[in-house]
Amino acid sequence: MPKDKFLGGLLPSGFSELSCLSRYQSVIYRKPSPHKPSSYLISKLRSYEALHKRCGPYTEPYNRTLNQLKPGRVIANNGCKYVVHLWMSHSGLGNRLLSLASSFLYAVLTKRVLLIDQGHNMNSLLCEPFPETTWVLPSDFPIKNQFNSFDKKSPNCYGNMLTNKTINTSMDKSLPSFMYLNLIYDYDEYDKHFFCDKDQGFVKKVPWLILRSDQYFIPSLFLIPSFEKQLTKLFPKTGAVFHHLGRYLFHPTNRVWGLVTRYYQAYLAKSDERIGIQIRDFGSTNLPFQSMKDHIIRYYLPHLAVNDTIFNRVKDSSDLTNPLTYMMDRILDCSLKENLLPKVVSNPQDSVFNPPKNPKTKAVLITSLNSWYYEEIRNTYWQNPTSTGELISVYQPSHEEFQQIGNPTHDIKALAEIYLLSLMDVLVTSPWSTFGYVAQGLGALKPWVLNNPHKEMNLDLPCHRARSMEPCFHFPPFYDCEAKTESDTGARIPYVGHCEDTSWGLKLF
Ligand code: GDP
Repeated sequence: MPKDKFLGGLLPSGFSELSCLSRYQSVIYRKPSPHKPSSYLISKLRSYEALHKRCGPYTEPYNRTLNQLKPGRVIANNGCKYVVHLWMSHSGLGNRLLSLASSFLYAVLTKRVLLIDQGHNMNSLLCEPFPETTWVLPSDFPIKNQFNSFDKKSPNCYGNMLTNKTINTSMDKSLPSFMYLNLIYDYDEYDKHFFCDKDQGFVKKVPWLILRSDQYFIPSLFLIPSFEKQLTKLFPKTGAVFHHLGRYLFHPTNRVWGLVTRYYQAYLAKSDERIGIQIRDFGSTNLPFQSMKDHIIRYYLPHLAVNDTIFNRVKDSSDLTNPLTYMMDRILDCSLKENLLPKVVSNPQDSVFNPPKNPKTKAVLITSLNSWYYEEIRNTYWQNPTSTGELISVYQPSHEEFQQIGNPTHDIKALAEIYLLSLMDVLVTSPWSTFGYVAQGLGALKPWVLNNPHKEMNLDLPCHRARSMEPCFHFPPFYDCEAKTESDTGARIPYVGHCEDTSWGLKLF
């Protein structure tokens, strides 16, 4: 067993190792993190674990706080308060993990206990992160049957209560026993008041917060003055927040871990270098795509025989705006320009006869919902020698074809692939993709992000290097709580700025 299986004090001791092998074994597969957790973060996590153990499901304080949900009860602070994290039913795994990390940090900051509603069978994906307790909301939670009806129009929704003035945030008399916080991408202006200091002064007194989100909302927590000081003490390196939270919270179950370790050992471990390419083809852009013919002419025709299938596909192709081809161009341009992958030689005969004695090996791990990119890249490096003599092997664990909501096996493969990407030495990721964000954060990797075809990006470059490994908060509020007007929240403090892949998003640097 390696020395630092507790990740510099980030992980608690005392768990049974066999019940969740990934927790203490991940260190075998990863390079040591260059980012050490602060001693303040470590002490806060230990205090949080003690709080969770004391107030967790079925403890005496939990049962007492549950009673407050009964009609007519006086709301009293009995030392335990909760945030119940609800899943967005149609969210992918990346969004779910990022929003869960955000709720957890909010819980730590506000001394609440985080419980998760098991909407998506999270226990087949992740181990329990807190010792001697559970983060799973009990199935007999009294208002559980209302969860599906909670939305921004619900009478219990904080934003809606503000709009309809059914609460007075300066008077404790109107304090509800629970409130629904709507922090999903289409939340409205009043929901966004959650990110104002004054509102937090009221929200903190409510014993039960039911929070639904699909966003990484941590950058906006840094903009709340009463949280900022504590946050910068917890995370002196503001660009490594998700890195620590993700490594602390997300430990794949033994089933997922088996997929990760078997794949890594069978295909990736022996190579000199490992490159992850995460391809999320959102398939909707407003730019004219490069023609398939252009692409093939540039990359393939010099090497193809006239009877080759690709050659024939090009010849017969009437599809000149193929999005797959457009992305493919960007991936290859980026990999070559940034020296991640070598060029293939135009005259293969030369190097076939002069192979280097000890060629360097590079493994490329492709993740994508379809297998087209994998086949194209693999064929390129199979059918042609490289100019450097390096041997390039290309792998793709699965191609699920489409996103499958609520299919546990699909989620298990997705988590295994996110985790495998995080074990690579270098990452190329797709813009806007939370799937890639989780991998880069867990792996402490600043990825090369493929430039999206959206008009605000620099279209001359196929990709750009992310300035930090942090995820992007795609739909942050733009509200100045003091001035009560719209303002640029990305221009307020130096380490919260706009994302490289989404100009309106917010990101920690
Ligand atoms: P985002 O939509 O790219 O932000 O990422 P999400 O993870 O939130 O949602 C996409 C979902 O589609 C994933 O959770 C997977 O279920 C599926 N998916 C997307 N790309 C891949 C992939 O490369 N491999 C696998 N196994 N699933 C993927």
